[in-house]
Amino acid sequence: MLIVSARRLRRPVWQAALACIASVAATATASAGADTIPPVTACDRLHQESGPTMRVSEAQSRPAAGGLAAHCEVIAYLDERTGADGQKFAIGLHLRLPDAWNGRFVFQGQGGTDGFLGSGDAQPGGGQPSALNQGYATVTTDAGHSNAPGPLGGASFGLDPQARIDFGYRADDVVTRRAKHFIQAYYGRLPKYSYFLGCSNGGRHGMAITQRFPDHFDGVAAGAPAFRMPEKGLSGAAVTQAFAAIAPKAPDGRPILAQALSQADMDLLSKAIVQSCDAADGLADGIIDNVPACRFSPRTLQCSAEKTASCLSAAQVTAVENYFEGPTTAQGRRIYAPYPYDYGIATEGWRRWILGNAPDSRVNAFNVSFGATLAYLYMTPPHAPLASEADAVYDFYRSVDVTEAHAKIFGTSAAMPESSVQTISANAVDLSGFRARRGKLLLYHGVSDPTFSALDTLDWYKRLTNAVGGEKETADFARLFLVPGMNHCSGGPATDSFDVLTPLVNWVEQGRAPERIQARAGAKTPWPERSRPLCPYPRQARYLGQGSIEQAENFTCAVP
Ligand code: CA
Repeated sequence: MLIVSARRLRRPVWQAALACIASVAATATASAGADTIPPVTACDRLHQESGPTMRVSEAQSRPAAGGLAAHCEVIAYLDERTGADGQKFAIGLHLRLPDAWNGRFVFQGQGGTDGFLGSGDAQPGGGQPSALNQGYATVTTDAGHSNAPGPLGGASFGLDPQARIDFGYRADDVVTRRAKHFIQAYYGRLPKYSYFLGCSNGGRHGMAITQRFPDHFDGVAAGAPAFRMPEKGLSGAAVTQAFAAIAPKAPDGRPILAQALSQADMDLLSKAIVQSCDAADGLADGIIDNVPACRFSPRTLQCSAEKTASCLSAAQVTAVENYFEGPTTAQGRRIYAPYPYDYGIATEGWRRWILGNAPDSRVNAFNVSFGATLAYLYMTPPHAPLASEADAVYDFYRSVDVTEAHAKIFGTSAAMPESSVQTISANAVDLSGFRARRGKLLLYHGVSDPTFSALDTLDWYKRLTNAVGGEKETADFARLFLVPGMNHCSGGPATDSFDVLTPLVNWVEQGRAPERIQARAGAKTPWPERSRPLCPYPRQARYLGQGSIEQAENFTCAVP
């Protein structure tokens, strides 16, 4: 029995989480204007770029249609080969070159474990014109593999050592080089400025680029970065196991994961967190801006007697603590990061990752899709083949010995001399190359992200600050914007609609560092008219004391 639809596991939400860069403050800075650059050659002549290591499968002029400006569309495959288990591999590249080029280039990093070619456009979202329609040349890649259908389809490429490396970082390098080569062939010049945008796995690629290929991009925006993907994939197993252990049992004897916490339990938690932490930023507005000051213990909600709607059972409290504080190995070593206590956890955007909403023992939590990647992509040597059914993936995930698996995500073999933590994680803080070439890194992360922890990104930023040697020196080239209440890349009771491309371009090209980013709440939030500034850490949004609390202009960014 397939307990999770294959489609769900093949293309979970994080795979679809592309840029998640919403928009409010449209400016003309990066828009195509009178100074656009026309092509110097015909689009179909780009077929001539084919060679021993690259096959151009498409080079076609496209008139304006379907919401896309007129452009030259190129699809090419690099390094085609047959790898482990007879799997066919190539690094796919999808490039769009606008007729009216603004001289700039955007690489759109993709979500999930890549494995699909994507639209070849960078979508700012929130009503902002796409990067292509703003005049940017844009590219996406499948990062070296094509996902097969089924629950293992986004992971089985991990059995091939080279495919791990291509996914980890190599595709970022070769696709950027090739894309710039095509740009030069088509327009007769290289891009004046190059940018990288991505959220989730796309944010991980962005961080990897600043660490490994600092010369390729002038500006990188990395959202909710999956920069410790193997560690997170394993900690998700421990979290799933903890919640499965307290979940009521279905008639088939298996846990009903979604019922480990009811919606009423989640609401109870969220309200208690708001009560504890909301006002610490100076304004009880339902938004917790002072994230570092939020001290909360779910023990305060523990029932003194029978479980009721107004308290949590002792077992629930322990499972909740295990999630927020971060699971550990048998030796007490923390596997991943803790998560911030934030009010956005009572949302569908949190539930669908951690618990799912299946009414019976069929699990549909997105977290479980990490089971396949843990088995095939993170552990070295990889796990023995799993049955290609969602049940098998789930059973592996909820039974794997996390201490043994912890050793294997740091493991190596003759075929895989780098561990997945080395190949796939992007945890280094030596950004000296990127800093020296005056690159700018704009990080953002939802505080209620249930999958990749905002505290992990904050910890990395603090380690970067230590490595650089000062807050000001770091802020000159790298800034982190926390988004209270926001789930993974978007969603939640949050001002999650914002544009990072324009601030990044202004920072790179005009030297105007982003002191605040205008953000607006969505229609589904408790305050659909609300706007706020997003502030670079350690500054936080602070109410100025007069004017509507719904309007960003009545807030400043201040150090708490
Ligand atoms: Ca507040």
